[in-house]
Order: sequence, then structure tokens, then C-alpha cells
Amino acid sequence: MKYYSLNNPSHKVSFKEAAITGIAPDKGLYFPESIPQLDADFIENIENYTGAEIAYKVIAPFIGDEIPEDRLRQIVEETLSFNFPLVEVEEDVYALELFHGPTMAFKDVGARFMSRCLNYFTKDEADKKITILVATSGDTGGAVASGFLGVEGINVVILYPSGKVSDVQEKQLTTLGQNITALEVEGTFDDCQDMVKKAFLDEELKDVSLTSANSINIARWLPQMFYYFFAYKALKKAGKPLVVAVPSGNFGNICAGMMAKKIGLPIAHFIAATNANDTVPRYMDTQEYTPKGTIETLSNAMDVSNPSNFVRILELFGKQFGKLDEELTSYSFTDKETIAALQKVYTEDEYLCDPHGAVGYLGLKKYLADKHGEYTGVFLETAHPVKFADSIIKNLAIEIPIPEQIKSVMNGEKKVIAINSYEGLKGYLLSAQ
Ligand SMILES: *Cc1c(COP(=O)(O)O)cnc(C)c1O
Repeated sequence: MKYYSLNNPSHKVSFKEAAITGIAPDKGLYFPESIPQLDADFIENIENYTGAEIAYKVIAPFIGDEIPEDRLRQIVEETLSFNFPLVEVEEDVYALELFHGPTMAFKDVGARFMSRCLNYFTKDEADKKITILVATSGDTGGAVASGFLGVEGINVVILYPSGKVSDVQEKQLTTLGQNITALEVEGTFDDCQDMVKKAFLDEELKDVSLTSANSINIARWLPQMFYYFFAYKALKKAGKPLVVAVPSGNFGNICAGMMAKKIGLPIAHFIAATNANDTVPRYMDTQEYTPKGTIETLSNAMDVSNPSNFVRILELFGKQFGKLDEELTSYSFTDKETIAALQKVYTEDEYLCDPHGAVGYLGLKKYLADKHGEYTGVFLETAHPVKFADSIIKNLAIEIPIPEQIKSVMNGEKKVIAINSYEGLKGYLLSAQ
């Protein structure tokens, strides 16, 4: 499979090059040059396949012969080393829990898959090291750190704003050691992000082979298709068309879901649920794409005002708004509505959402409100509620048992390098070569 740059369709690269470089030289996102089609037989009999078999079938056509079959099967199996339970919350309303991985955020799947692909691609180039450079406001850093821990040929450098991530998140970033380095930045998340962008453009850092590990990278974006197949498999028996609501920030996850539908998965409709950062819901109303400043909310992993992956969604529909509008509905919800939903679901349904999942739940309920039992609905639960214990406990006054993954990381020792300027970052990258 070849991938082209959305800024210049004649610039085409292999899966390997797209995964290693992350973004095209012209700063365009990569997009597959053709949309593979799964055989109807596979969808018809999906209940006979394991999760890893499904994932292999889904991802293999996007990789072609660039990774041998046995190795790709191994990569997929290692990626999916945890469960994705589907929990019935109300009649026709299900939560697909994507947070049972090592850092308890759904980003674990993409990070684990990407790290193993890069490891395969760099294995024969013993002298060539890749450096993954990421800025994090919380969840991405932990998932990337855990996903790449101990992977040969790859160094990971994570920038995070000092004092602005939660204790759990800081521990997840700073205690692993080995090939993971945390840089504690005196500044905000935007400062971290700016430094990362500057480093990617810095000619003097050319020999460092920098790449990114956010959902712009196809190797992190595409494996998110798996979730939608798992939901379909689990609910096929119910016999009703499926709608899926996705709490969305950078729109990578929902874009993967829409790709899953394009390759043959029967999903009736998608709902992109956002917090107050409502660029896409406004776009769906007005067809005008006008990002505003980013607003801080309780569902902070979705505090994105200019979602990178939305251009990929437009591309999936040939930039035809009418076609997109048939398959996607988008709603925005306030923090007040989110907390009220969290409370209601907890007391009436005895199910505890995290703030991101609660936004997804709200989107699903709003869409289904006038549909009279025609559909089975699924919302994606993207993070474990314990990661948001502060906001949840404050509002619900409940104790959340601490899972093992979190307990073990809390005992680790924090190791960081403090930096306070771009020169600090650059100096570190040059010296670490
Ligand atoms: C990243 C994240 C999201 C948003 O996913 P996108 O693919 O960026 O839309 C939602 N919930 C949680 C918990 C996240 O970490």
C-alpha cells in the first residue's frame, strides 16, 4: 500500500516511510492511495474469529508485503494483550471499554502497534536510531512511553508542562527509564508543543531522525479500526443496525471508525461527541470550518480546537459534504452536562463513566432520542475513571479502587531533565545522539 500526502497527492511513499517520518515533507498528513475491501464472508462469520485474527485481516491490506505475515500476526497479538469488554449500560446502550491496557487510556493500542512496526523497520539498521519526540498534556505521553519501553533502535523523548499533569500521569512518564526520557518543561502544554514543532523544522537536528507518535502517524491511527470490529462482533447477535458514538478531540479515533466502515464494516451511523471545543459540530451545522482558541474542560484529552484528523475525514468522503452529513452527526456538550450525565449513569445504571466516556454517552443518547429502539448504540469509554479521580470524587463522593497498573507506577522514582527553553531541548537532543 502506498500513502499520499493530503497536501500533494503525487507525493507517495511506502507504509514504512510514512510510519517512520510521521508526516510528509510538505507537512501533509498521509492517506492510503486506495481503500481495501474485506470479503463479505469474513464480516458474515466474524464471530468465528478471535480479536487478533480480526485485527490481522483488517490491517494487513494497509501494509501489503512490507511486513511478513507471521511477523504482522505477532505484532497484532502483542498489541492486543488486554481485553475490550462491552458492558450493557441501559437497554440498547453499551459501553465499549478501551481502557484496560497498560496506561489505562485507549491510546495504548495505537502506541503499542506503532512501536512494534518501527522496531521491525529499524531492526536491520543497527546504527540508525529513531527519536520519537512528543509533547503531552497528559495521556499521550504515558501511552507512548509504555508502548515504546525497551524497543531497540528507538529513543523516546517526552516534553510535559511542569505541575500541569496529574500525579498518575507524571509517574507514568517519568519512572520508566531505559529508552524513555522525560523533559520537565517550565511552561505550558502549548510551550511544549511549540518546542516540538520547532525541533522538527530545525535543520541542525536533521541527523537526529526525529519522528512523532501522535495520531497523525498512520501506524498509530489505523489500528484504531479494530475497536469498531470488536463492537460489531459482540453485538451482531442483537440483529439491529449499530450506531457508534466517539468522544472526539483530534478526531483520529472516529476517523479510524469511518475508515472501518469504508472497508466493509456495517455501521449505520457515527456520532462525534465533543466538549466545549466545538469546531466540528459547528462545521456540520454551517459548513464553515472556523477553529477558535482552545477551551479547558474536564475531558481534557479532547481539548483540541483544530483537530488534525478532520482533513482525513473529509478526504474519506471525497470532500463532499452531503455524503459526510449522511454518515456523521456531531454534538458538543458542556462540563455541566458531562457531570450531570456521569452522575445519572452512576446512580441510575450503576455504571461509572470517565468524563470523556460521559461525553460519548451524551452524544449517543441525543442521537437515539427520537429513534424508538431502531438501533443498538455503543459509546467508546476511552479512559479509566480513576485517572480523573479528582473531578469525579469531588462530584460524586465515591471511592474508586486503584487498579494494579496505576499502583505499580506510583511506587516508581521520578527521573527528569528540567528544561526551560528551546535551546535546552536542542542541546539535549544533540548530546543524546
Ligand atoms: C485522546 C483521547 C480522546 C480523543 O481521541 P481523538 O482520537 O484525539 O479524537 C478521547 N478520550 C481520551 C481519554 C483520550 O485520551
